[in-house]
Amino acid sequence: MTVAVILKHKGSQVETLRPGATLQQTVGLLAAKHIGAAVVVGAQGEVAGVVSERDVVHALAQHGSSAMNMPIDKFMTREVVTCAMTDSADDLMEIMTRGRFRHVPVVEGGRLVGIVSIGDVVKRRIEDSDLERHAMREYITQAG
Ligand code: AMP
Repeated sequence: MTVAVILKHKGSQVETLRPGATLQQTVGLLAAKHIGAAVVVGAQGEVAGVVSERDVVHALAQHGSSAMNMPIDKFMTREVVTCAMTDSADDLMEIMTRGRFRHVPVVEGGRLVGIVSIGDVVKRRIEDSDLERHAMREYITQAG
């Protein structure tokens, strides 16, 4: 199973923020959209960083509530690991396990075209193994 297949099911919507957005706006977006991370994009639409719930926790631990008015580029991760449409679910699981993060933006031709979370990968894998089990049961029943 590839990233392209995962995106086909979940859609290509990516919630983004500008580097100057405040932590308050970031928290508002994550809460409103029920998501754990957003991609920070620069003026040319390039991926400038990623910000997740964990970064919010660190910001609050470091600065207390005054962090809420600070820009997100102060807390985001700048070295973003991305993936391609052709990467497999296994590739993604390895990338996430190695990097210890749960979100990977999908980039194609320099453009942000989606984002995959660990939840998306696990969901597809469960659906795949359910399908396989069903097919196997049908086969065994018919063979008998
Ligand atoms: P997460 O597990 O996605 O909540 O992220 C944990 C930490 O990794 C946070 O500091 C994120 O900013 C960072 N992070 C999340 N996704 C990525 C990614 N694709 N590449 C690099 N860092 C990331």
